[in-house]
Amino acid sequence: MKTKELDAKYVAHTYGRFPVEIVSGHGAFLTDDEGKTYIDMGTGIAVNIFGACDEEWIKAVEAQLHKFQHTSNLYYTKPCAELAEMLCERTGMKKVFFGNSGAEANECAIKVARKYAMEKKGPEYSTIITLENSFHGRTLTTLAATGQDHYHELFQPLTPGFVHAKANDLNSVKELVAQYKVAGILFEAVQGEGGVLPLDQEFAQGLAELAAKEDIILMADEVQIGNGRSGALYGYMKLGIQPDVVTTAKGLAGGLPLGCCMMGEKVCDVLNPGDHGSTFGGNPVACAGAISIVNRLDEELLSQVEEKSQYIFDAFTGAPGVEDIRGMGLMIGIKTVKPAGEVVAACREQGVLVLTAKDRVRLLPPLNIPMELLQKAVEIIKTACE
Ligand SMILES: *Cc1c(COP(=O)(O)O)cnc(C)c1O
Repeated sequence: MKTKELDAKYVAHTYGRFPVEIVSGHGAFLTDDEGKTYIDMGTGIAVNIFGACDEEWIKAVEAQLHKFQHTSNLYYTKPCAELAEMLCERTGMKKVFFGNSGAEANECAIKVARKYAMEKKGPEYSTIITLENSFHGRTLTTLAATGQDHYHELFQPLTPGFVHAKANDLNSVKELVAQYKVAGILFEAVQGEGGVLPLDQEFAQGLAELAAKEDIILMADEVQIGNGRSGALYGYMKLGIQPDVVTTAKGLAGGLPLGCCMMGEKVCDVLNPGDHGSTFGGNPVACAGAISIVNRLDEELLSQVEEKSQYIFDAFTGAPGVEDIRGMGLMIGIKTVKPAGEVVAACREQGVLVLTAKDRVRLLPPLNIPMELLQKAVEIIKTACE
């Protein structure tokens, strides 16, 4: 049987896949089983930060593979410790916990907020506020955190203690803080799956002030926008706020599974031995890959992200068939006159892979995509929008 038939027969039908089998890639190019090449403007949903098979990343991962692949967290390993140091130095956070995915990073954040509030204010302070239209993962707890009802309906009862405020509406958050005993607030600097909606700076700063005043743990979910994609190392940095907890995953290890929950001054000693764990978490191969990625997210690279972002915004603003464009850095959502799915299919036909987010066409290109390739992809996408 061919791959598509095998997949249809034996892999759980949890994904609506595009009709493409990817067999290899190099940089911003991907190749399918029929030898057709595509410019990749999706990076496996913001994962392959430096595109496919980046040389430096391969070298780092391969070197670690030849040393050892896994130890469990019963032993010390250098890549894990060094990556933790690197992340703390770059963010001002104090300690990190490593898991394997975005959902797992958020689970850790929620446990930290609840334990802090329980010890400081009492066990009734367990409520977590998240925003409507947010996305925080697929486990039963991160689904409860996700502010979109259609994800909830079939899996009741979800973990209790989550309420949802309106994004960019501080009063809506204040009302919930008055009504519930709140442990934490979890937000995305740019709502990704919710349609690439950036938070207003004013709202984010209001959220941070409110959280500080009420001693509520402020948690930034940087799973998608994090790791350079925003044009800053993390998206919250663009909003001029300092969260107590930052979670990330997707792009962190450049294509290997790695999740991370970073904890600031206030909460860095909340977790004690036995409170939390993950067998694969902090895996040395994934951490070696991440070190090679984070090392290169420097000022120069970030300013290139800004330039490319500006280029894309300029190209689509007012273009035929485009209603509006929004986002941050190289995480961009375009509202098209045609249904987004149609535009995605037309792009694929013409050799460009793009994604959707709600009713938008979503672009998540490699951060180091060469300018000529980006221009070429943009022209094809623009034609598909017309
Ligand atoms: C993708 C995503 C998650 C979930 O990450 P997984 O690795 O799929 O568990 C959580 N939060 C945000 C903002 C995401 O984009």
